[in-house]
Amino acid sequence: MDQKGAGLHIVLTGAPGCGKGTQARILKERAHICHLSTGEMLRAEAQKDTPLGKSLKAALDRGEFATDEMIIEMVSNRIDAQDCANGFILDGFPRTLFQAEVLEKMLAEKKIKLNRVIEIQVPDEIIMERILGRYSCMQCGQGYHDKFLKPKVYGVCDVCGGTSFSRRQDDNRATVQNRLVNYRMLTYPTIPYFEKEGLLSCVDGTGTIEATAQKIARILGLSEAK
Ligand code: AMP
Repeated sequence: MDQKGAGLHIVLTGAPGCGKGTQARILKERAHICHLSTGEMLRAEAQKDTPLGKSLKAALDRGEFATDEMIIEMVSNRIDAQDCANGFILDGFPRTLFQAEVLEKMLAEKKIKLNRVIEIQVPDEIIMERILGRYSCMQCGQGYHDKFLKPKVYGVCDVCGGTSFSRRQDDNRATVQNRLVNYRMLTYPTIPYFEKEGLLSCVDGTGTIEATAQKIARILGLSEAK
Protein backbone atom coordinates (compact mmCIF):
# COMPACT_ATOMS: atom_id res chain seq x y z
CA MET A 1 0.00 0.00 0.00
CA ASP A 2 1.15 3.54 -0.72
CA GLN A 3 1.09 6.46 1.73
CA LYS A 4 -2.67 6.93 1.35
CA GLY A 5 -3.31 3.26 2.07
CA ALA A 6 -1.58 3.74 5.42
CA GLY A 7 -3.80 6.66 6.52
CA LEU A 8 -7.13 6.58 8.32
CA HIS A 9 -10.16 6.44 6.01
CA ILE A 10 -13.55 6.60 7.65
CA VAL A 11 -17.18 6.93 6.61
CA LEU A 12 -19.48 8.56 9.15
CA THR A 13 -23.09 7.75 8.43
CA GLY A 14 -26.54 8.05 10.00
CA ALA A 15 -29.75 10.01 9.58
CA PRO A 16 -29.68 13.79 9.01
CA GLY A 17 -29.12 15.50 12.35
CA CYS A 18 -27.51 12.46 14.02
CA GLY A 19 -24.33 14.50 14.57
CA LYS A 20 -22.14 13.40 11.64
CA GLY A 21 -20.83 16.89 10.96
CA THR A 22 -20.13 17.66 14.62
CA GLN A 23 -18.37 14.35 15.18
CA ALA A 24 -16.42 14.65 11.93
CA ARG A 25 -15.06 18.05 13.05
CA ILE A 26 -13.92 16.55 16.38
CA LEU A 27 -12.41 13.47 14.72
CA LYS A 28 -10.61 15.65 12.19
CA GLU A 29 -8.74 17.40 15.03
CA ARG A 30 -8.10 14.20 16.95
CA ALA A 31 -6.80 12.11 14.06
CA HIS A 32 -5.31 14.96 11.94
CA ILE A 33 -7.26 13.92 8.87
CA CYS A 34 -9.44 15.74 6.39
CA HIS A 35 -13.22 16.24 6.81
CA LEU A 36 -15.02 15.78 3.48
CA SER A 37 -18.67 16.83 3.79
CA THR A 38 -20.56 16.47 0.51
CA GLY A 39 -23.37 18.61 1.99
CA GLU A 40 -20.91 21.48 2.64
CA MET A 41 -19.39 21.14 -0.83
CA LEU A 42 -22.87 21.29 -2.38
CA ARG A 43 -23.99 24.24 -0.25
CA ALA A 44 -20.90 26.16 -1.41
CA GLU A 45 -21.72 25.32 -5.05
CA ALA A 46 -25.40 26.24 -4.55
CA GLN A 47 -24.44 29.78 -3.49
CA LYS A 48 -22.96 30.51 -6.90
CA ASP A 49 -25.01 32.54 -9.33
CA THR A 50 -24.73 29.95 -12.11
CA PRO A 51 -27.35 27.66 -13.73
CA LEU A 52 -25.85 24.72 -11.81
CA GLY A 53 -25.81 26.70 -8.54
CA LYS A 54 -29.47 27.67 -8.97
CA SER A 55 -30.76 24.19 -9.78
CA LEU A 56 -28.68 22.74 -6.96
CA LYS A 57 -30.09 25.27 -4.49
CA ALA A 58 -33.66 24.33 -5.49
CA ALA A 59 -32.91 20.62 -4.97
CA LEU A 60 -31.22 21.16 -1.59
CA ASP A 61 -34.06 23.39 -0.35
CA ARG A 62 -36.49 20.54 -1.05
CA GLY A 63 -34.22 17.95 0.62
CA GLU A 64 -33.61 16.14 -2.68
CA PHE A 65 -30.34 14.51 -3.58
CA ALA A 66 -27.80 15.93 -6.02
CA THR A 67 -26.90 13.79 -9.05
CA ASP A 68 -24.55 10.86 -8.56
CA GLU A 69 -22.35 12.02 -11.42
CA MET A 70 -21.65 15.35 -9.77
CA ILE A 71 -21.13 13.96 -6.28
CA ILE A 72 -18.82 11.18 -7.39
CA GLU A 73 -16.58 13.54 -9.36
CA MET A 74 -16.46 15.99 -6.44
CA VAL A 75 -15.51 13.28 -3.93
CA SER A 76 -12.94 11.68 -6.20
CA ASN A 77 -11.20 15.04 -6.78
CA ARG A 78 -11.15 15.89 -3.08
CA ILE A 79 -9.70 12.49 -2.11
CA ASP A 80 -6.83 13.08 -4.55
CA ALA A 81 -5.95 16.44 -2.98
CA GLN A 82 -2.79 16.73 -0.91
CA ASP A 83 -4.64 17.56 2.34
CA CYS A 84 -6.18 14.06 2.27
CA ALA A 85 -2.80 12.31 2.17
CA ASN A 86 -3.04 11.45 5.88
CA GLY A 87 -6.63 10.20 5.58
CA PHE A 88 -10.19 11.49 5.51
CA ILE A 89 -13.64 11.28 7.04
CA LEU A 90 -16.47 11.05 4.52
CA ASP A 91 -19.59 12.79 5.89
CA GLY A 92 -22.73 12.53 3.72
CA PHE A 93 -21.22 10.12 1.20
CA PRO A 94 -22.08 7.43 0.23
CA ARG A 95 -25.80 8.21 0.47
CA THR A 96 -27.12 5.37 -1.72
CA LEU A 97 -26.20 1.76 -2.35
CA PHE A 98 -25.00 2.80 -5.81
CA GLN A 99 -22.68 5.43 -4.30
CA ALA A 100 -21.39 2.81 -1.80
CA GLU A 101 -20.48 0.48 -4.66
CA VAL A 102 -18.85 3.30 -6.61
CA LEU A 103 -16.86 4.32 -3.51
CA GLU A 104 -15.56 0.79 -3.08
CA LYS A 105 -14.34 0.68 -6.71
CA MET A 106 -12.95 4.23 -6.53
CA LEU A 107 -10.91 3.45 -3.41
CA ALA A 108 -9.64 0.17 -4.86
CA GLU A 109 -8.41 2.08 -7.94
CA LYS A 110 -6.71 4.68 -5.75
CA LYS A 111 -5.23 1.89 -3.55
CA ILE A 112 -6.93 3.29 -0.47
CA LYS A 113 -8.25 1.02 2.27
CA LEU A 114 -11.53 1.98 3.91
CA ASN A 115 -10.88 1.33 7.60
CA ARG A 116 -14.34 1.70 9.14
CA VAL A 117 -17.90 2.84 8.58
CA ILE A 118 -19.44 4.28 11.74
CA GLU A 119 -23.20 4.64 11.99
CA ILE A 120 -24.40 7.19 14.56
CA GLN A 121 -27.81 6.04 15.75
CA VAL A 122 -30.42 8.58 16.91
CA PRO A 123 -34.23 8.11 16.91
CA ASP A 124 -36.34 10.34 14.60
CA GLU A 125 -38.11 12.22 17.42
CA ILE A 126 -34.77 13.44 18.81
CA ILE A 127 -33.50 14.29 15.32
CA MET A 128 -36.31 16.75 14.58
CA GLU A 129 -35.65 18.71 17.81
CA ARG A 130 -31.92 18.75 17.14
CA ILE A 131 -32.20 19.95 13.56
CA LEU A 132 -34.84 22.63 14.11
CA GLY A 133 -32.74 24.23 16.88
CA ARG A 134 -29.30 24.12 15.30
CA TYR A 135 -27.31 27.02 13.86
CA SER A 136 -23.66 27.82 13.25
CA CYS A 137 -21.10 30.59 13.32
CA MET A 138 -20.76 32.15 9.87
CA GLN A 139 -17.08 32.83 10.43
CA CYS A 140 -15.69 29.48 11.65
CA GLY A 141 -18.60 27.05 11.21
CA GLN A 142 -18.81 26.10 14.90
CA GLY A 143 -22.22 24.52 15.56
CA TYR A 144 -24.66 25.64 18.29
CA HIS A 145 -28.20 24.79 19.39
CA ASP A 146 -31.01 26.97 20.80
CA LYS A 147 -31.51 24.58 23.70
CA PHE A 148 -28.61 22.14 23.99
CA LEU A 149 -25.50 24.13 23.09
CA LYS A 150 -25.62 27.89 23.54
CA PRO A 151 -22.52 30.11 23.22
CA LYS A 152 -21.09 31.07 26.64
CA VAL A 153 -21.74 34.73 25.85
CA TYR A 154 -25.04 35.39 24.06
CA GLY A 155 -24.45 36.19 20.36
CA VAL A 156 -20.67 35.59 20.45
CA CYS A 157 -19.00 32.48 19.07
CA ASP A 158 -16.96 30.63 21.74
CA VAL A 159 -14.34 29.59 19.20
CA CYS A 160 -13.60 32.65 17.05
CA GLY A 161 -15.53 35.53 18.64
CA GLY A 162 -17.68 35.92 15.52
CA THR A 163 -21.08 37.56 15.98
CA SER A 164 -22.91 36.40 12.84
CA PHE A 165 -24.75 33.10 12.83
CA SER A 166 -26.84 31.27 10.25
CA ARG A 167 -29.27 28.39 9.95
CA ARG A 168 -29.34 25.95 7.05
CA GLN A 169 -32.21 26.60 4.64
CA ASP A 170 -33.02 22.88 4.57
CA ASP A 171 -33.39 22.75 8.38
CA ASN A 172 -37.16 23.32 8.34
CA ARG A 173 -39.82 20.77 9.35
CA ALA A 174 -41.12 19.90 5.84
CA THR A 175 -37.65 19.49 4.32
CA VAL A 176 -36.37 17.51 7.31
CA GLN A 177 -39.31 15.11 6.94
CA ASN A 178 -38.39 14.64 3.28
CA ARG A 179 -34.72 14.14 4.17
CA LEU A 180 -35.66 11.49 6.77
CA VAL A 181 -37.80 9.61 4.22
CA ASN A 182 -34.92 9.73 1.72
CA TYR A 183 -32.55 8.50 4.41
CA ARG A 184 -34.73 5.47 5.25
CA MET A 185 -35.40 4.64 1.59
CA LEU A 186 -32.09 5.38 -0.08
CA THR A 187 -29.28 5.66 2.47
CA TYR A 188 -30.24 3.06 5.08
CA PRO A 189 -29.62 0.12 2.65
CA THR A 190 -25.90 1.01 2.75
CA ILE A 191 -25.80 -0.08 6.43
CA PRO A 192 -26.34 -3.85 5.85
CA TYR A 193 -24.04 -3.52 2.81
CA PHE A 194 -21.13 -2.29 4.94
CA GLU A 195 -22.01 -4.76 7.69
CA LYS A 196 -21.59 -7.61 5.20
CA GLU A 197 -18.21 -6.19 4.24
CA GLY A 198 -17.20 -6.39 7.93
CA LEU A 199 -16.66 -2.62 8.09
CA LEU A 200 -19.60 -1.42 10.20
CA SER A 201 -19.54 -0.18 13.80
CA CYS A 202 -22.60 1.46 15.41
CA VAL A 203 -22.61 4.07 18.17
CA ASP A 204 -25.48 5.44 20.21
CA GLY A 205 -25.60 9.14 19.34
CA THR A 206 -28.19 10.20 21.93
CA GLY A 207 -25.67 11.16 24.64
CA THR A 208 -23.55 14.30 24.84
CA ILE A 209 -21.30 15.33 21.94
CA GLU A 210 -18.23 14.37 23.97
CA ALA A 211 -19.69 10.97 24.99
CA THR A 212 -20.31 10.10 21.33
CA ALA A 213 -16.85 11.38 20.37
CA GLN A 214 -15.28 9.10 23.01
CA LYS A 215 -17.16 6.09 21.65
CA ILE A 216 -15.94 6.85 18.12
CA ALA A 217 -12.35 7.37 19.33
CA ARG A 218 -12.49 4.01 21.13
CA ILE A 219 -13.73 2.21 17.98
CA LEU A 220 -10.84 3.70 16.01
CA GLY A 221 -8.26 3.00 18.72
CA LEU A 222 -7.47 6.72 19.11
CA SER A 223 -6.33 8.32 22.31
CA GLU A 224 -9.37 9.79 24.04
CA ALA A 225 -7.65 12.60 25.91
CA LYS A 226 -7.98 16.00 24.24
P1 AMP B 1 -25.89 17.12 4.60
O1 AMP B 1 -25.12 18.35 4.92
O2 AMP B 1 -25.04 15.85 4.61
O3 AMP B 1 -27.14 16.98 5.43
O4 AMP B 1 -26.38 17.28 3.07
C1 AMP B 1 -27.25 18.32 2.68
C2 AMP B 1 -27.93 17.98 1.37
O5 AMP B 1 -26.95 17.85 0.32
C3 AMP B 1 -28.70 16.67 1.34
O6 AMP B 1 -30.03 16.80 1.84
C4 AMP B 1 -28.69 16.34 -0.16
O7 AMP B 1 -29.66 17.12 -0.82
C5 AMP B 1 -27.33 16.82 -0.60
N1 AMP B 1 -26.30 15.75 -0.56
C6 AMP B 1 -25.28 15.64 0.34
N2 AMP B 1 -24.54 14.56 0.11
C7 AMP B 1 -25.09 13.95 -0.97
C8 AMP B 1 -24.79 12.76 -1.69
N3 AMP B 1 -23.77 11.96 -1.34
N4 AMP B 1 -25.58 12.44 -2.76
C9 AMP B 1 -26.60 13.23 -3.11
N5 AMP B 1 -26.95 14.36 -2.49
C10 AMP B 1 -26.21 14.72 -1.40
